[in-house]
Amino acid sequence: MASYTTKVLIIGSGAAGCTASIYAARAGLNPIMVHGLQPGGQLTITSDVENYPGFEHAVQGPWLMEQMEKQAAHVGTKIFHDTIMEVDLSKRPFIAKGESGDEYISDTLVIATGASARWLGLESEKKFSGFGVSACATCDGFFFKNKEVVVIGGGNSAVEEALYLANIASKVTLIHRRDSLRAEKIGQERLFANPKVSVIWDSAVEEFLGTEEPNSLTAVRIKNLKTGAISEVKTDGAFVAIGHSPNTELFKDAITLDKDNYIQTTPGSTKTNIEGVFAAGDVQDKIFRQAVTAAGTGCMAALEAERFLSGH
Ligand code: NDP
Repeated sequence: MASYTTKVLIIGSGAAGCTASIYAARAGLNPIMVHGLQPGGQLTITSDVENYPGFEHAVQGPWLMEQMEKQAAHVGTKIFHDTIMEVDLSKRPFIAKGESGDEYISDTLVIATGASARWLGLESEKKFSGFGVSACATCDGFFFKNKEVVVIGGGNSAVEEALYLANIASKVTLIHRRDSLRAEKIGQERLFANPKVSVIWDSAVEEFLGTEEPNSLTAVRIKNLKTGAISEVKTDGAFVAIGHSPNTELFKDAITLDKDNYIQTTPGSTKTNIEGVFAAGDVQDKIFRQAVTAAGTGCMAALEAERFLSGH
């Protein structure tokens, strides 16, 4: 069991973590980045990325993350294939313990542990994931130009995804398990006024249906929860928008979270309630959730960590 000491410890290796690493390394802070459970973060489970600036043509999400990590290593970040299981933020330097048994001791901490999309948990959802089933309209909506899609959920995310998709797809059907939406009124009004969108109420998706080899979604089987009636809705794509969970379990006792468990940061900053601890990317952002905004806040976190260190 080893012990490593650094000025900046970055937990998480998605767009936020890698960018924080690049900036911290280039500032001469010799950062350590600990990968976490899903090295590269959420972009590693998407395919084509067309909205990350710098590439004329679509690039693959896993490839983009590989490049970001290589760039972080190239400029001097030490990268550990470990998952932090425990943190002590009660005093500086902070101490983080990895699953490996190794200990990371750091003057500042950048939390970039991201968020995970919630899924319905059906076998067929996994089977068609990336073959018609997605949890991100901004990432995958473009592939459904002039096609029919369904969106599952009734919160702000579902309504935003449905409205976003209505600009691209020929028809959008929102499927919600109750008879009213929990999304904000203004979003609901826009949704109901959009001629391309219709809503199926009181219904749960029971199965994603499609062809095999190649896998391709063709319909969803739904159950009306009031009448018990089963029916099929033909569709080319299905967007699961039943919420995201920020990966904040590790910090919930030490760091102030908002009502949805996202880390609360000072507006216009990545500062948390603990001096020397910064949060970047989806773990503190429930509104934008884009790779480029995660990278942006990762940069901010590294610059703020650098300023903090030079002031102490
Ligand atoms: P929410 O938790 O608000 O909504 C989740 C929706 O999915 C609910 O309608 C819920 O149904 C439904 N749902 C949950 N689990 C299942 C399931 N197993 N099967 C079927 N349906 C299910 O998540 P959001 O991602 O929409 O929002 C999270 C937070 O982020 C909220 O605070 C939201 O306001 C905020 N947000 C803000 C935005 C903005 O300001 N622009 C944009 C997006 C999100 P039910 O209603 O029955 O519980």
